[in-house]
Amino acid sequence: MRKYTQFYIDGKWVDSVSPKTAEVINPATETVSGTISLGSEADVDLAVAAARRAFASWSQTTIKERLDLLRAIQAEYAARMQELGEAVTEEMGAPLSLGCGFHVGLGAGHLQTTIEVLENFKFEEQRGNTIILKEPIGVCGLITPWNWPLNQVTVKVFPALATGCTSVLKPPQLAPYSAQILAEIMDKAGTPAGVFNMVQGQGSVIGAALSKHPDVDMISFTGSEPVGVQITKDAADTVKRVGLELGGKSAWVILDDSDLAANVIAATAGMMVNAGQTCSAGSRLLVPASRLAEAVEAAKAGAASVTVGDPNGNVGMGPVVSKAQWNIVQGYIQKGLDEGAELIAGGLGRPDGLDKGYYVKPTVFVTTNDAVIAREEIFGPVLVIITYDDIDDAVAIANDSVFGLGGYVSGQDRDTALAIARRLRTGAIWINGGFDFHAPFGGYKRSGNGREWGEHGFAEYVEVKAIMVGGEG
Ligand code: NDP
Repeated sequence: MRKYTQFYIDGKWVDSVSPKTAEVINPATETVSGTISLGSEADVDLAVAAARRAFASWSQTTIKERLDLLRAIQAEYAARMQELGEAVTEEMGAPLSLGCGFHVGLGAGHLQTTIEVLENFKFEEQRGNTIILKEPIGVCGLITPWNWPLNQVTVKVFPALATGCTSVLKPPQLAPYSAQILAEIMDKAGTPAGVFNMVQGQGSVIGAALSKHPDVDMISFTGSEPVGVQITKDAADTVKRVGLELGGKSAWVILDDSDLAANVIAATAGMMVNAGQTCSAGSRLLVPASRLAEAVEAAKAGAASVTVGDPNGNVGMGPVVSKAQWNIVQGYIQKGLDEGAELIAGGLGRPDGLDKGYYVKPTVFVTTNDAVIAREEIFGPVLVIITYDDIDDAVAIANDSVFGLGGYVSGQDRDTALAIARRLRTGAIWINGGFDFHAPFGGYKRSGNGREWGEHGFAEYVEVKAIMVGGEG
């Protein structure tokens, strides 16, 4: 049983000002796995004040000093990878192989990438008579979700630190363990007091207090669209910068020239990684109308290949994060049935043999792009297949969404795939499975306004100053 009832403020572990606590539920067992403190505005005030004090000196550190700290954090992180992976599995239900693999690997990747970017980042450049400086924006409020908890914490905390900012992290109540361990890592690595702070608690209290705080200079948020809108409104009175990484309903276009069966199987199983709780999941699979029957058989095989069960066992998919999320996903499956979509795999209820835990059947529908299940982000292992007539039609369907986060193209002909990628109104597109830690990640339209990962992630945390130098004074 974990007991994380202290916050990391000003380089120390301190008791919460508020006496409130909350139980954390293991989604695989539906039992309590631990307790966290729920902070108050007073805890936020203490953390922000510490971050403000630390900013005076941290913003003046050299690149070498910041690199030294990042490397010390890297060593501590490497020593606790197994523990971090286990925490992810316990808090949000990812299979242990995924928790210790990709979840922890993403954090390690962002750390290494931050180091590489910092080694080369131009904080100062001369253009004609003008010196352009990129200076740390100040105290940053970092608000993160539960779905890829380590990824979203590390993609914010490390660039903030690397650019000379100080920060206050508010991890998700549903998945607080990995963030707590990361705070221990930051502490052990010798992060100077106040440079990084962490306060656990409710978004409506801690997140809102950070968003409204007059001494917080920017907010970086990943999560749902309504909360992103609320944060933007809360931050407006103090004219903070707000970076938003929100939801998606990304299209995966399977081209006629590709190995359709293999790609549909991979896309179906791939969408269900992390129980479909990925903002950039390829949750709309676009296939040529003439090959629907073939695609349906492949999607059935893809869904059947996803083994569901105890995340500590050898499975492909664990539970979704919470009872509330399970209910949301079931609601969408029911909606699909009510809308008359053709159910070709999965469906309502838990998979056979699983009576406890928030498990969902890998589910696939064939439908049209105007269906609710094709338009709204489900955030569970529910894929919709939509047919297209030709490439223009595929592009039109892919772009017919309020979201614009990701996109995928599978095809033999590189030029055709690239031409489609250029026409998609989304922030990131993967062709035949490409991946790059240095590639910017973020959304068009209602998927957000910021860019994280790599060098673009640094831009979120810097102010740009121009110093124009004239003649003799
Ligand atoms: P939320 O957007 O509610 O939560 C994300 C973070 O914001 C959490 O830390 C949360 O705190 C915090 N928060 C909540 N309310 C406020 C507020 N008023 N001000 C500041 N911060 C706040 O996402 P959920 O976890 O509730 O998930 C709901 C849906 O959001 C999912 O079903 C999915 O569709 C989408 N989502 C998208 C993600 C993405 O990566 N694009 C990630 C996660 C969710 P608390 O700990 O109280 O929850």
